[in-house]
Amino acid sequence: MSKGLTVADIDSPAKLTVSPSGALTGNNGVYTKHLADMAGVYRDSAAYDAAISAEGGDALVYRVESQDYGPHSGALTIGTSTLLPGRYGDEFAVTRGHLHAISDRAELYYCLSGRGVMLLETVDGRSEAVELTPGEAVNVPGEWIHRSVNVGDEPFVTLFTYATDAGQDYQLIADAKGMKNLVVADGDGGWMLRENPDHIGYKRA
Ligand code: ZN
Repeated sequence: MSKGLTVADIDSPAKLTVSPSGALTGNNGVYTKHLADMAGVYRDSAAYDAAISAEGGDALVYRVESQDYGPHSGALTIGTSTLLPGRYGDEFAVTRGHLHAISDRAELYYCLSGRGVMLLETVDGRSEAVELTPGEAVNVPGEWIHRSVNVGDEPFVTLFTYATDAGQDYQLIADAKGMKNLVVADGDGGWMLRENPDHIGYKRA
């Protein structure tokens, strides 16, 4: 036992049931992001506005279910992320993306269903895109900004885990006017990367 902890401070193990649909039984937190929450995220603002008009700002973009024990040192957050399919112009549906507030914290993403890409960038300009299909995972090292992208026709569902104290910095991407690369349709049923013309580089606070 760590110094300073008493038996009463030790958490009881949580049993979780993980569904390929993204349902996480045993969760103690759920949040959802809707179309209206994604203002400024997609580069084709006309396509985004058209989607708001057609589907409404309340349309679901993604849902996250998670379980944690609070931000004790070393404790894990376990969760599922379900990102619905969608296109805004030729850009695929994305999560907002973040760098961990404690930036050296790593994260595992394991694909449960659908087809997606984990878009990964560093503050100093490295960029990688890792395609994930069910059974595939990416072990995201610390210092990598990360965002899920749904490049398929079904919900892209991942199981994730990270140290709870990592936190999330969402502002870094917003301040840079988006990530350096966009994941766009290649015109042949697949995806490709295209440089985001608006990106002005990451500046860490
Ligand atoms: Zn993360």
